[in-house]
Formats: sequence, structure tokens, C-alpha cells
Amino acid sequence: MAAGTVSVDIDAVVVGAGVVGLAVARALAMSGREVIVVEAGEGIGVGVSSRNSEVIHAGIYYPGGSLKAQLCVEGKQRLYAYCEERGVSYQRLGKLIVATDEAQKLSLGKLLEQGRQNGVEDLQWLDAEQARALEPKLSCVAALWSPSTGIVDSHGLMLALQGDAEAHGASLVFHTPLVSGRCIEQGFELQMGGAEPMTLTCRELINCAGLSAPEVAGRIEGLPARHVPTAYLCKGSYFSFSGRAPFRHLVYPAPESAGLGVHMTLDLGGQARFGPDVEWVSGIDYRVDPARADGFYAAIRRYWPGLPDNSLQPAYSGIRPKISGPGEPAADFRIDGPAEHGVPGLINLFGIESPGLTSCLALADRVTRTL
Ligand SMILES: Cc1cc2nc3c(=O)[nH]c(=O)nc-3n(C[C@H](O)[C@H](O)[C@H](O)COP(=O)(O)OP(=O)(O)OC[C@H]3O[C@@H](n4cnc5c(N)ncnc54)[C@H](O)[C@@H]3O)c2cc1C
Repeated sequence: MAAGTVSVDIDAVVVGAGVVGLAVARALAMSGREVIVVEAGEGIGVGVSSRNSEVIHAGIYYPGGSLKAQLCVEGKQRLYAYCEERGVSYQRLGKLIVATDEAQKLSLGKLLEQGRQNGVEDLQWLDAEQARALEPKLSCVAALWSPSTGIVDSHGLMLALQGDAEAHGASLVFHTPLVSGRCIEQGFELQMGGAEPMTLTCRELINCAGLSAPEVAGRIEGLPARHVPTAYLCKGSYFSFSGRAPFRHLVYPAPESAGLGVHMTLDLGGQARFGPDVEWVSGIDYRVDPARADGFYAAIRRYWPGLPDNSLQPAYSGIRPKISGPGEPAADFRIDGPAEHGVPGLINLFGIESPGLTSCLALADRVTRTL
């Protein structure tokens, strides 16, 4: 051990204080374990968890039986109950998925079937007139109405999860990146960097490092490289709308390949924003290129022809932590435990893109059960 470093022995180390790491830490602490969350950034939610649409998804889009489908449907119910119990702000606004031509109408039909197969039982098919009765400014040939979709204050949620975890004895340390690790007889020995480097030993290690999860897994000596997927970065930019929101519910187009299409979400203050689009990138740069607005105007006017010129301003962006590349079928969430890689006590969470926010409590339960 290097001079001056501290050594701590603990039951479980969670890498990453995003919404998933915090939910996992809460579940592990509530099960009676001693838990430390190590976070490279300066606080909670500095990664993907602060750069998303903040939508509580219903669970419509994902292939039947997939982890995304199961954990989204279960996670949605758990999340609404949790927000209610802990006073986290949310609104069950409902959402319309719209078809603007006959081909999209066919894909909406498939989505309806998929949603029902996934256990989303409240979906309704609307013809154009019924959709416009809900949203008069909408242009579409048909729509799906999903009443159980909503929005949540993601930062408020993370604060509540952190509060529960700490109340059950968990500690969070910031500016503390995991630099390297190795499997030892009783578990893991981890080297933490930052201003105050330390060595941690633990029985259980849960990698919730979001975009960096494959990189973190790659630093664990003893985990064969074939169990570490390639990371792909897929950026999504958002534009805010300066005027009064055109719709009262969330409005999504029929989904496109790597994302759900440029949709309109509302924040809890009722302000409209549009996004995210799809841009495969090779590094992390969160600046929003104003030139991307052209694509937004075109996409939005398909379902809202009344969008005025010069009404969109660059807002923010997020990067999807993908483990499938451009043109490949979307990968499912991966909760890789000993059954997958053979290392006792280690769980790697890979590809936790959307609906990861919605699924956080269900993911955390699954991790605890897998351990
Ligand atoms: C554009 C976009 C829109 C989305 N919209 C939605 C939506 O509407 N609804 C929904 O349900 N989901 C949505 N998602 C998905 C959701 O945001 C994510 O699934 C979720 O936030 C992932 O949380 P996380 O904790 O796994 O990752 P993160 O929040 O990224 O947390 C990982 C943490 O690990 C830390 N870290 C990294 N490396 C290290 C290291 N070596 N040592 C220590 N710490 C480290 C990082 O600093 C970070 O804080 C969206 C995602 C994107 C990109």
C-alpha cells in the first residue's frame, strides 16, 4: 500500500452515485450490509442521471421477456409508490405516441401488442379525431394513449435514495474514482484515486458506473476480458421551446432505431422541451450544436405543423450508455453476476440506458437478489 493511504474493510462497495448506484446502495444498506458508494465526480447524479427526459416510462417498447420490459413495468409501479411515500415530485401526465402516416400506423399497432404483452394493460388506441380531442394542435392519423406514463424530479429522487441509504448506515465518498481492483480470496481489493487515495477491501462489488461501466469492469484483475462489452456512446440533444407548451400530455412520434424519436416532454413547471435526437459519438462532449435545430424543426412539424420558426433554443444533452453499436439491434440491460462471469460477489451493470431511471428500484432489487 502507498504511504499515506487509508485502508477500509467493508461488506459492499458500489461504484457510481447515479440513480442506479444510489438505489442499489439503498437496497443493500436496508438488507443490513455495510455499504460505501464511491463516486468519481463531485456529488450525486453528475452523469447520465441528470441528462435525460425524466420520463417514467410505461414499459411499451421493449421485447417481451427482456429485462428492460420486466424492470420497467415493475419499476414504474415501485417508483410512483416511492415518490408518493417520500414526497418526490412527479406528475402522471399520460403520453400520446403518434403515427403521422400509414406505415407508422402499422408500427403503432405492433407497439400496442408489445405493450400489452409486457403487462401494460391500460394502453388505448385512438383515431385521429380522438387524439385531437386530447391535443387539438396535434397532426396524426392515429395514436396510442398511455395513461401510466409520467415525469419525475430526477434530482429529488436521487436525494431521497441517498437519504434512505445514509439512514441505513451507507456512506458516500465523492472525488473518489475506482482506479484498479483485483479479486482476492475474501472478495476484492480496490484502489481508489483522487485527493485522498485509499484501499478498500470488500466482499461484494457492484459496478454502477454508467457510461464508464465497461471501463471499470476492465480494470478488475481476475474478471476475464470476454465478460466486458464494448461501450458505444450515443448522444441525444435537447432544445427548449420558448413559448407556452403546445400540449398538456407528453407527445412521442413512432420510435426510431436508436432512440424513441424527438418527443415533447414537459418539466414539472410545465415548460416544454424537445429531444433527444440520435448522434453516435466517440467522446463525451455535452455541448449542443445549434445547427442540429434544423433536424428538430423537421421532425417536430410532422406531428405539430404549427411549430413557429426560431422558437427552439439549445438546452442540454445526454449520452446513452450503449453496449450495441449503430445498426445493431438494441441490447438489453445486463446484470452480470457470478452465473455469467464466475466471480463471486461481483455484479456489473452494463447498458443501463433508458428506461434505467424508471427501473432503478426494480434493478436494485434484482441486484440484491442476485447477490
Ligand atoms: C438522452 C437520454 C434520455 C433518457 N431518458 C430517460 C427517461 O426519460 N426515462 C428513463 O427511465 N430513463 C431515461 N434515460 C436513461 C437513464 O437516464 C439512465 O438509465 C440512468 O440515469 C442511468 O443511471 P446510472 O446510475 O446507471 O448512471 P450515471 O447516472 O451515469 O451514474 C454513474 C456514475 O458513475 C460514476 N463513475 C464513473 N466512473 C467511475 C469510477 N471509475 N469510479 C467511481 N465513479 C465512477 C460517474 O461519475 C457517475 O456519477 C435516458 C438516458 C439518456 C442518455
